Amino acid sequence: MPGKPKAEAAPKAAKKSKTLETLRGFRDILPDEQAAWEKIEDVARNLTHSYGFGRIRLPALEATSVFERGVGKDTDIVEKEMFTFVDQGGVKMTLRPEGTAQVARAYIEHGMLNQQQPVKLWYMEQFFRHERPQAGRYRQFWQLGLEAVGSDDPVLDAQIILMTYSFCKDLGVDTIVNINSLGTPAIRKAYISELTKYFKGHAKKLGETDLKRLQRNPLRLLDSKEDGMEELKAGAPQLIEYLDDENKQHFMKVLEYLDEAEVPYTLNPFLVRGLDYYTKTVFELVSTNPIGENGSQLALGGGGRYDGLIPLLGGREATGAIGAALGLERIMLAMKAAGSMPDNKRTVDVFFCQLGEAARRKGLKIFEKFRQAGVDVGEAFAKGNLKAQLEIADKMKASVAIILGQKEVLDGTIIIRDMEAGAQEIVDVEKVVSIVAKRIQDEKIAAKNSKE
Ligand code: ATP
Ligand code: MG
Repeated sequence: MPGKPKAEAAPKAAKKSKTLETLRGFRDILPDEQAAWEKIEDVARNLTHSYGFGRIRLPALEATSVFERGVGKDTDIVEKEMFTFVDQGGVKMTLRPEGTAQVARAYIEHGMLNQQQPVKLWYMEQFFRHERPQAGRYRQFWQLGLEAVGSDDPVLDAQIILMTYSFCKDLGVDTIVNINSLGTPAIRKAYISELTKYFKGHAKKLGETDLKRLQRNPLRLLDSKEDGMEELKAGAPQLIEYLDDENKQHFMKVLEYLDEAEVPYTLNPFLVRGLDYYTKTVFELVSTNPIGENGSQLALGGGGRYDGLIPLLGGREATGAIGAALGLERIMLAMKAAGSMPDNKRTVDVFFCQLGEAARRKGLKIFEKFRQAGVDVGEAFAKGNLKAQLEIADKMKASVAIILGQKEVLDGTIIIRDMEAGAQEIVDVEKVVSIVAKRIQDEKIAAKNSKE
């Protein structure tokens, strides 16, 4: 049946094998990847902090109507990608496929129009879409979202674009911005009727999917990648020529600001983006290194202005807004392609070694004291052998090892070992934390001075 997703092949877990596996399109993110995720989080926090965005943590489930009304019924997302179900209480709900409709819902629900405008919000959350999984496309994925609600000033369009561009740049990923203007709904309506006329004239050349688009959402023909469409699209009327003065000026301003900020962009008259709520500016970010399967290009993120969304969901008329979302798995693919993945190896300043049961017992608390004093300290309490522990200390690049043995426990002392020179000294166990903390601090200052 057309339009209806085909039944999934039996889930992996239902195969004969007794081992359980993740669902198709879902995955575990293991410790090996965490350095990169933490870097992404740090860069996001820094960036949003500088630009005065407040974080919002959104619920994973919403009433289905938030997306049906907010994203639009004729979009790919609502038509075929949502995980929707009815709960035990008979309520129809959906695992969030995107964040903008949620933010709009939250803006209205919490009366944010009474705050200073624009209200600037960011989120970093998981989203869910029932798509065919492939590299850079999962059923659960992460997005960084930026939304500025309550202003129609084109400087905000430019700022949001600049932020997404800088976010990638700070992670070592070079991007180009594809940009277009969709105009306001009235303009788009006039344009769509011309576009429909044009494609109806060429209906014989359209495939099944495109014929459906022609009926339901003709604008989407512009991002069709079906055979022969490239040529057809080239001859199609272009939206930019239908823009009135106000729309044109808005767009020109955005481009001027981007020029000033030195953000590289390409005008792309075919960029329409998949969501109904966009008005005026729309954009997408692509990595200069392709990240898709077989060298194909997948966007790292995108966004646009959505001046109609807040009123559509029941908020005040004329609430201008602009936002963007970046796919973090794709950003990570781009980081890999650019060779900018951070090293995942953990290093420490100090390593704590213990020998014998009494030392292990006392050591638990001494280790905590180091940690509480803010010393970057490592351990391997599960190991009993000193040589093995010192090897780990070496691997973790500790400059100092602390050694607690049977004798030291009895004497109330502890050994400080310089890892490079091998020299050891015995100190009072009560003083060891402050001695070592000071030594590490001095080492760091010396290292910094020698660099300068
Ligand atoms: P695409 O055209 O690639 O399907 P989209 O237009 O559906 O993307 P948006 O809704 O604009 O995507 O979401 C913004 C970003 O979120 C995308 O550019 C992408 O980086 C990421 N994203 C979207 N869908 C997925 C997915 N299924 N898996 C991983 N990342 C995704
Ligand atoms: Mg999509």
